[in-house]
This record gives sequence, structure tokens and C-alpha cells, in this order.
Amino acid sequence: MSHRIVIVCAGISGLSLAYRLQQRLPGATITLLEQGDRPGGAAWTLRENGFLVETGPNGFLDSKRFTLELARELGLGSQLVQATEAAAKNRYLFLGHGLQPLPGGFAAFISTDLLSWRGKLSLLWERFRGKRTQAGDESIDAFARRRAGNEAADVFADALVTGIYAGDPKLLSLPACFPRLADLENTYGSVIKGFAREAKKRRADAKARGVPYEKPGKMWSFPGGLRVLVEALTANLRRPPAFGVTVRAIRKTGDAKKPVWRVEAEGHDGWDADAAVLTCPAHQQTGMLADIDDELSRSIGAIPYNRVAVVALGFRRADVPMPLDGFGFIAPQNTHRDLLGVQWCSSIYPDRAPDNFVLFRAMCGGWNRADIVAWDESRLLDALRGELRLAMNVTAAPIFHKIIRWDKAIPQYHVGHLERVAALEARLQKHPGLWLGGNAYRGVALNDCTEQGAILAERIHHYLSEAQG
Ligand SMILES: Cc1cc2nc3c(=O)[nH]c(=O)nc-3n(C[C@H](O)[C@H](O)[C@H](O)COP(=O)(O)OP(=O)(O)OC[C@H]3O[C@@H](n4cnc5c(N)ncnc54)[C@H](O)[C@@H]3O)c2cc1C
Repeated sequence: MSHRIVIVCAGISGLSLAYRLQQRLPGATITLLEQGDRPGGAAWTLRENGFLVETGPNGFLDSKRFTLELARELGLGSQLVQATEAAAKNRYLFLGHGLQPLPGGFAAFISTDLLSWRGKLSLLWERFRGKRTQAGDESIDAFARRRAGNEAADVFADALVTGIYAGDPKLLSLPACFPRLADLENTYGSVIKGFAREAKKRRADAKARGVPYEKPGKMWSFPGGLRVLVEALTANLRRPPAFGVTVRAIRKTGDAKKPVWRVEAEGHDGWDADAAVLTCPAHQQTGMLADIDDELSRSIGAIPYNRVAVVALGFRRADVPMPLDGFGFIAPQNTHRDLLGVQWCSSIYPDRAPDNFVLFRAMCGGWNRADIVAWDESRLLDALRGELRLAMNVTAAPIFHKIIRWDKAIPQYHVGHLERVAALEARLQKHPGLWLGGNAYRGVALNDCTEQGAILAERIHHYLSEAQG
């Protein structure tokens, strides 16, 4: 029997799920329904006036290898590019005047002005502090203060959260956003100890295998941008996604134990499926599920999102009076600047700007400054020019700009998120054949999305094999 599977939307979550499903279930009919006119969702690349602009993600890390391996499997191995060594090593903080390097090693940490001596000692003391004894969730801010002290929390934890989630460290859940840090504390009693022990293990393992030790955590992309991955995934699907299809509702029909799912879209009749998967954003899933399970729908709808504007800015190289020897800078949110940070795209990967020009991507908005995303173009550009003057002494006007506004940019895993996800999963047991995916539940990075694609494919395969038996 040929199984019918409908996946709502063709972001990286939906695409990687469809790709993994067709490997597991070669006979299945897999239909991807996408509202937009292209695949990729947030992950897409534009080329304008010789500048290569990522609309959302800028790359993927190799600390988890799901996306890297997927790219290699798709035959893209020779096209992969790593962030430059300078970008991997050097990042800066903007605290209102000029840029200060984020310390990358012990010597730099000892000499940095970012923390006082008391702040440094408090952070170094992390390895001697006991494990948390209280059960339950904890915010990133509370975790950082408890383990590393107030100064480290104000400077480093805020910068980390600004750079990845553009969220509020006092609201975001540590185990949901940074599960590895929670695991390191649980396993080794200390994050610093845990990092050191795990690095030692990896070194020993590389030595035993006779391969050079490669420190994980490098960022990857393609000379043509992340669109290359999106297009390769799409081209490798047996059935291309159906574009311009806005799904509105999903209904359960037939046998309660083995239901048929009817996916209904605006202006279309609908699709029947033995398994239906929603990988679109939570605020879309909530509406689709309202008629079949109000409680499920409301719980999903309560997952908040931030707003982010990505502003690509092209300058003449000669107009930027500094070396650009790094990834860029972060403006921690507690400094209340008009930007969250700037990536120096043309210093990170090749082919981002024409010769003698540079490309930056400023991120604006986030949880605490959502209003900025609605600023009109001239106000936004003026504000950014002011910030670039203070941070990098750039006084010239950009010769190119492109603004991409994400009204629902990155889901925010607030304290209680993992409990919510566990409850949602328990509730889903009432709806066999219905699956929820996408970046709203188990990680927002591209790696999390591609990993979830593989996990869901396995579960759906299992369900359909059992249902058939
Ligand atoms: C500005 C920004 C920068 C980021 N930087 C990085 C980074 O550097 N590295 C990293 O790893 N991650 C980064 N991320 C996170 C990562 O890009 C996302 O988590 C990931 O791309 C989400 O993929 P997705 O498929 O789950 O959802 P999305 O990409 O949001 O795709 C959802 C899709 O659903 C479709 N859709 C919505 N409603 C409907 C409907 N009713 N019917 C049909 N289709 C619908 C949309 O059109 C869209 O195509 C960034 C995200 C943003 C926004």
C-alpha cells in the first residue's frame, strides 16, 4: 500500500523531513504544501548589485553534524565553505564606543577589560561551585549568575543570547535554549570542567583514530549562500513542493485509531493523508488545529516569537577604516542600542561583495526592541549609520542596502518551554498520524531543524509500518 504523507510547508524543516521520509518510505506519496513561491522559509539568499544577502541564517555549525552531513549526502561536499579563520577566532562587543574583543583564550581573558578582577575570579570559580540542587526549569540569566557571577551574566550571557536568540536572558529557559550547558553541569558538576573534559576526550579519540584533531564549532555555508542547500534539497525530492498553497485547517476523518487527515488550504479542496505533519511556525499551526483540539491549539499559540529586521549594508572598502578581521560584533541587549549586532559577511565567507566593497548584515529589534522592526527605511538606516559611526568609525553612507523584516522571526523558548513541549507530545497521542515539527519546539538552529527532520521521519516510518501491520 502506498502511504500518503502531507507536510505543511517547505522551510528547511519540511524539506529535510520530506527528504528523509522518501529515503525511509520509497513508495510513499509525499506532498509538501508551501504558502510562498519558493522553498527555504527563513533560509534563502538574494543576489543584488553584486552583493550576496542571506535573508535569515548565515550558516550552520559543525558542533552538531546533521546539516553538514545532509549537504555532503546531497553531493554539495565540494561546494561547502568554512568561515574564515579570522571570523572563527575574532568576535567583538559594542558597548557604546568602539569595539572590544571577546576573549578567545585564557591569556585574553586575564587581560580583558570586559570584567573586573572580581568578575574574572567569580567566573573562574565556576568549576568549584556545586551543582544545582533545585529541580525545575531555570532562566539563562539565573543560571549564568548562579554559576559564573553577575558580571559574566551581564556581559557574556547577554551577548550569547543576543547573538543566537535575540531574546531576553531573564525569560529564556537554559535547558531549552542551551541543553548542552545544562548537560555539562549535570554530568561534570561544572560547565568549564565539562568543556575541558570533553575536549580532552575528543583529542584522545582523534589520536586513537590517527586523524588530526579538529575543534568543533566552525560555521559553514556555500559561495552561493544557503540557498544552495535549499535548492539541492528541493531538487532531490521526488515530488516538488506545491507552492502558493496556504493551509488553513486540518481535520480528522475516518477511524479514530487510524484516522485519515484532511489538510485544507485556501482556495483548494484539500489533501487526504495517512500522516500529516505541520512544520510551519507555531502561530500558523495554532490556527490549523483550532477545530480539532482547542487545548493543543492554544498551547502552541502561546509560544512567543521575537521580531527581527535584517539590514544588509554594502560599503566601499575604503570607507571602512578598520581591519574587519573577524565575524563582526554583538551589542548586548542590556546596552539598549538600536542594533543587536553586525555580521561582517564579506569577512566570513567568499563572494559576498564585489571587489573593493564589503557587505555587513545588521540585526535589529529582538525581544526587547521589537518596535525598531517597524521603523521606516530612512529612520532605520539613519539609526544604523549612527551606530556604525560609534562602533567602527564608519561615516560614509552605504552604497547598497536591503531590509528584510521578520515579524515572527525566532521562537522564544521561555522558562517552562520543555514542560509545554512534553505536554504537547502527550496530547498528540490522542491524534495518531498527526505530527508537529519546525523550529518552535526542539531547537531553532538549522542543525536542530535537520536533526528533527531525521527523527520525525523515523517516527512516522514506524507509525505507518505499524498501522499497516
Ligand atoms: C534573521 C534570522 C537569522 C538566523 N540565523 C541563523 C544562523 O545563522 N544559523 C542557524 O543555524 N539558524 C539561524 N536562524 C534560525 C533558522 O534559520 C530557522 O530556525 C530555520 O530556518 C527555521 O526553519 P523552519 O523550516 O522550521 O521554518 P521557516 O523557515 O520559518 O519556514 C516556515 C515555512 O512555512 C511556510 N508557511 C507559513 N504559514 C503557512 C501556511 N499557512 N501554509 C503553508 N505554508 C506556510 C512559510 O512560507 C515558510 O516557508 C536564523 C533565523 C532568522 C529569522
